[in-house]
Amino acid sequence: AQHEETDLNQVIRAALEVTAYGARSTGVTVETDLAPGPLTVFVDADHITQVAANFLVNGQHALTAASGERKIRVRTWRNTDAVGFSVEDTGPGIPAEIAQRIFEPYFTTKPVGVGTGIGLSISRSIVERHNGRIWFDDVEPHGVRFCVELPLAQAHA
Ligand code: ADP
Repeated sequence: AQHEETDLNQVIRAALEVTAYGARSTGVTVETDLAPGPLTVFVDADHITQVAANFLVNGQHALTAASGERKIRVRTWRNTDAVGFSVEDTGPGIPAEIAQRIFEPYFTTKPVGVGTGIGLSISRSIVERHNGRIWFDDVEPHGVRFCVELPLAQAHA
């Protein structure tokens, strides 16, 4: 796979498509709020799709155990020199005592056969290879929002 000029909104749409079956079968609805595009980034589109899909599948898992509304919110945005996306769920969130470890390879709280613990560590290395930032914020009263920011493609900054 190679770097090419890509609209981040298209990447997000691709990730929504590959995770749509899982959303449907877990009763999760996905709300999208995509910034007016194109949000042009110079990226390996397949790899960034994988990061967004990881977030979405993790959100589905988090909501499967949760009671109450099963909703994931997906946003994209543009700043002066960066574009970003976030995936937010209203599941149990990340307990403080594991917050430092979730990006570690093979760290998982899921049962054997369900979790491998590689999703977030791969996501982090993909984002770092793109000179981007990856982080998460707690959502009140419960839940988590995973975020990525990537440099805006040169000619578009
Ligand atoms: P896996 O999903 O296979 O466990 P990941 O690297 O994707 O591997 O995630 C590591 C851990 O981070 C998960 O096992 C879970 O404890 C936590 N985590 C990730 N996303 C979420 C989320 N949306 N809500 C709650 N916990 C999460």
